[in-house]
Amino acid sequence: MSTQADLFRQAGPAEHGFPADAGVRPLPAWELVRSKRRTLAIHIRQDGHVQVRAPLRLPRRDIEDFVASRADWIHRHLDEIAARGPRPQWHEGWGDGRSWWHEGEALPVRCLAPGQRLPGVSLRTRVALHDGGLWVSAALAGDSAAIADALLRWQSARAAEVLPASVDALVARFGEDWRPSDLRLRHMRSRWGSCSRDGRMTLSTQLMHVPPACRDYVICHEMSHLREFNHGPRFYAWQEHLCPDWRARRDDMKQWAERLRGG
Ligand SMILES: [Zn+2]
Repeated sequence: MSTQADLFRQAGPAEHGFPADAGVRPLPAWELVRSKRRTLAIHIRQDGHVQVRAPLRLPRRDIEDFVASRADWIHRHLDEIAARGPRPQWHEGWGDGRSWWHEGEALPVRCLAPGQRLPGVSLRTRVALHDGGLWVSAALAGDSAAIADALLRWQSARAAEVLPASVDALVARFGEDWRPSDLRLRHMRSRWGSCSRDGRMTLSTQLMHVPPACRDYVICHEMSHLREFNHGPRFYAWQEHLCPDWRARRDDMKQWAERLRGG
């Protein structure tokens, strides 16, 4: 969970960077994203993608110098990621027999046979929850990437119903001044939520994978950032106020993150 939020309000299209000459060991290609931020930052994703975030008008040369000066740090991180071994291809093997985590429950995924229909179930969205399982349209059978895509769309649609309602329920309980100025939902794989200084909250649609108690913990965490834009003692006091058993839920959440990373 990050307190950085300008990531989601970038101005202008992303540019792509290429390795600066860093001496012995060349740097990997990096992506340059300019936004209304004041400082330079480098972010390395778990898949090794390197992103450099920079102020809108900072000269390219300064950015390249900065990246070159961080070469050791970048290589160290990439080495760590490489040492963990290849990550499983997430969309590999989606189809009959796999399970999809939904609100902490493993729902079996089943493809319909051609011509097979389920009574009272529409597969307009290509995925439907029926009888404790997720049924996928026969048209997608055998195409694991298309099935993964359809499952993600299904999840986004559930998130659009559930996450705003979860925020509403917490606001109803603790008071209207806990309401974020804006709530956005995004498919984010590297973090669960974020909050900006002006009170905009962004939640990952992937929160639909985890049990409601864990989901609420993440929302309470971000709500606490509405009061304290840091992770200092006062932040934790607010988090404790909103979610007294946050420690247990945080520990659960760590396990969920591991489980979901496993594919
Ligand atoms: Zn935080």
